[in-house]
Amino acid sequence: MLLPESCGQALALLAATPDAIPMAGGTDLLVHWPIRTAEHDRIYLDLSPLRDLKGVRWEDGALVLGGLATYWDVICDKRAALELPLLVEAARQVGAVQIQARGTWAGNIVNASPAADGVPVLMAYDAVVVLESVRGRTEVPLGEFYTGYKQMRRAADELVVAIRVPRRVYALQRFFKVGARRAQAIAKVGLAVTRSTAGWRVVAASMAPTIHRCPSLERLLEDGADIRSPDDLLPALTQDVSPIDDIRSSATYRRRVMARVLYDAVRGS
Ligand SMILES: Cc1cc2nc3c(=O)[nH]c(=O)nc-3n(C[C@H](O)[C@H](O)[C@H](O)COP(=O)(O)OP(=O)(O)OC[C@H]3O[C@@H](n4cnc5c(N)ncnc54)[C@H](O)[C@@H]3O)c2cc1C
Repeated sequence: MLLPESCGQALALLAATPDAIPMAGGTDLLVHWPIRTAEHDRIYLDLSPLRDLKGVRWEDGALVLGGLATYWDVICDKRAALELPLLVEAARQVGAVQIQARGTWAGNIVNASPAADGVPVLMAYDAVVVLESVRGRTEVPLGEFYTGYKQMRRAADELVVAIRVPRRVYALQRFFKVGARRAQAIAKVGLAVTRSTAGWRVVAASMAPTIHRCPSLERLLEDGADIRSPDDLLPALTQDVSPIDDIRSSATYRRRVMARVLYDAVRGS
């Protein structure tokens, strides 16, 4: 285990040991630890001592989540509930309190599960991923971060040092996690919808190999189409998402449920 004392040291260690695996809360990395014994021999870079990556801070134009900001940090931030309530709603639905206290937003992004709960709300808020390495700093909009299943625009020597969430005035903000039960469940269908001066954002989770925005649905809403039932959303939805049948749900169920919850979200808006 590599134990850096500062962010600069962590980046230097990662540059010198490119196959080292950054570990934040460990709530994804350690899930398979008892059975995937080959992973015991890997080198881990423990990020937990890096104070400068902890917590959240408000700037004039954005909420900045540190690279180690946890769900609990956001749940405890009263301003987040007022300005960016979907962050709090999603955080409260991640695992249980123990996971909310350890799990980080950056870990949720880099783990890249198609069923993650933190990613859809960040994407619906146009969050930007701030990456740093010894080569410098780059910023990638979360909506453009994933390039395929578990593939992303992050090099092995880069750390997520922050996530910047723009502050805007929202006319509509909704998050839905449809699972087998309300707590400790993986989403069968996830949906985050926002409407602001920047336009509509419709983000689907558990509906494709990656969480992503739905351009056809966003266009439909932007054009002010007359949507009289969930069925009116299905043609655009089918262009945007390609759900699969798996142990949690069928593709047909996912499509129908997403149309239903989206219809409920946008009705009357
Ligand atoms: C019981 C249980 C319930 C759960 N419930 C949910 C749930 O309801 N919804 C949900 O979305 N998730 C859930 N999770 C998954 C997990 O808790 C989240 O994805 C969490 O956000 C992961 O954060 P972490 O800090 O623990 O990541 P880690 O496990 O430390 O790391 C995850 C990945 O991110 C990388 N990484 C972490 N931090 C950085 C960084 N700063 N820079 C670069 N790479 C980094 C790691 O190398 C690894 O690839 C659950 C997990 C458990 C064990």
